Amino acid sequence: MSKTLKRAVLFLLALCLILSVAACSKPAAPETKEPETKPAAETPKQEEPKKEEELKKEEEPKQEEQPEEEDMGLLISKEPVEFTFFYNVSAADDGQWDVLKEAARLTNVNLTVTLAKNANFTEAWNLMLASGELTDFVNSYWPDQVTKFGVEGAFAPINEYLDIMPHFKAFLDANPDARRSMTSYDGNIYYIPLMPDGNASYGWFIRNDWLEKLGLEVPYTKEELYDVFTAFRTQDPNGNGEQDEVPYFSGRRSQGIDFLLPMWNAYPYWYAENGTVKFGPLQPEYKEAMKNIAQWYAEGLIDKEIFTRGGSARADLLGNNLGGSTHEWIGSTAAFNDSLADQVEGLDFEPMAPPEGREPVRRSAAYTYGWSVSTQCKDIETAMKYLDFWFTEEGRRLANFGIEGVHYDLVDGVPVFKEELLADPDFKSNLVAAGAQPEFGFKQDFAYEAQWLNDIAREGQKLYEEHEEWFLPLFPELGSLRTPEEFEQYSALYTPIETYVDETVQQWILGLKDVDETYDAFVAQLQTLNVDEVIAVQQAAYDRYMAG
Ligand code: CA
Repeated sequence: MSKTLKRAVLFLLALCLILSVAACSKPAAPETKEPETKPAAETPKQEEPKKEEELKKEEEPKQEEQPEEEDMGLLISKEPVEFTFFYNVSAADDGQWDVLKEAARLTNVNLTVTLAKNANFTEAWNLMLASGELTDFVNSYWPDQVTKFGVEGAFAPINEYLDIMPHFKAFLDANPDARRSMTSYDGNIYYIPLMPDGNASYGWFIRNDWLEKLGLEVPYTKEELYDVFTAFRTQDPNGNGEQDEVPYFSGRRSQGIDFLLPMWNAYPYWYAENGTVKFGPLQPEYKEAMKNIAQWYAEGLIDKEIFTRGGSARADLLGNNLGGSTHEWIGSTAAFNDSLADQVEGLDFEPMAPPEGREPVRRSAAYTYGWSVSTQCKDIETAMKYLDFWFTEEGRRLANFGIEGVHYDLVDGVPVFKEELLADPDFKSNLVAAGAQPEFGFKQDFAYEAQWLNDIAREGQKLYEEHEEWFLPLFPELGSLRTPEEFEQYSALYTPIETYVDETVQQWILGLKDVDETYDAFVAQLQTLNVDEVIAVQQAAYDRYMAG
């Protein structure tokens, strides 16, 4: 238990680090995922004998139970219902979000957040689960933990209530990948995660003004990219008489290197091919990629400080008119054109297609965090209906855009944020402080984000969204699909493997080790670290995912 908890804490810390770096939205790790080869149609019916009732998905649930009630609208209960909610409350919030209050006004179900301001969420979560006294609703960040406690009986299997959750059920039917992602190895659904919208979050950017100055076309193949980077490096596009340009940079340290791998058809970590789970570093394409990237680095095409540059990379290298290209969040990267306009003359940092048309970062079908209903809840059915509310049109709009008339107006049926709110540079954090974009189970609507992006970001977003074929398949989150034994095995074995890969990659790129001379020993060492056992564990969980 304590080992598992420690890991959960470490995982949360890592997550927090990633989240704090990626200010504009949640990070999608550059993982890969099996293409949607499975038809959307059928999902296994683990739930009890409720199949026929599920067919009536257009019916409002309360109409089934109370046929005399003509129209309760969004009301879930005629009498006010109070539930407790274990949710992360930051220093800026008090848990009294306007959005939850609005949901209470619409549904007659009110959630009171019980966790103290500034409490350590992970610690408090573990204490609560250990105590066996749970709040009605529980937010969490770790599918493996939710699954473990769910199987032990702490959380209600949501799939057994789908007949009274018509909107959520319709969502699951239309989104089989999301359904697979939240289904546990025992076939039950113990939590509903936050689910992002669309594929694109990251994109490639290049100094378009530098290309024009040097008379170059936007590169597409890796050979073209190499030539452009060489020109950036040697032809002084910033015009200061020095060869000080940094053609490719990244604030993502090792990930910055990972983003280059697709050009050589290589994958940094896990991916699946025709149903078979593979570990990228073991494949021949990986060796080829490392050889080339090390060469690019040696020639000065990649930032010498790529492993240490960190989160300020864009501000530093664009702000000092040195950086030529990066792969980053589209929204926040495009924003540098505005924020640095007075500082860097002619700065035109534009989105471009991913080299070779292979984009490694894709939004996942579901994030790892979401909420559950505890089995101690006195009225589980009402609680489930409340989960369902967030999948109604009104509930989804409330979660995404806040409150109508306060945060947005409906214009021709489309939510448009109030101009005076959008004008505030803290717009996003103000919206979140009101309770919108919560970290519980709802389906995001990218339109909320699109409204506060600048034109360059909107164009970039559109460019990527229009090219589904660019996105490499995303390897699914398998946390809820591992048995406790597999989870133990995976967590014990994988961390040393990951660390060893990271260290070796740095040595190769920095030129401390020769790729050709040391790659075979690298593979041998991975085998000593039991990589084959981890692959087998991944395969077992992945098979469950695909069967789901
Ligand atoms: Ca220069």
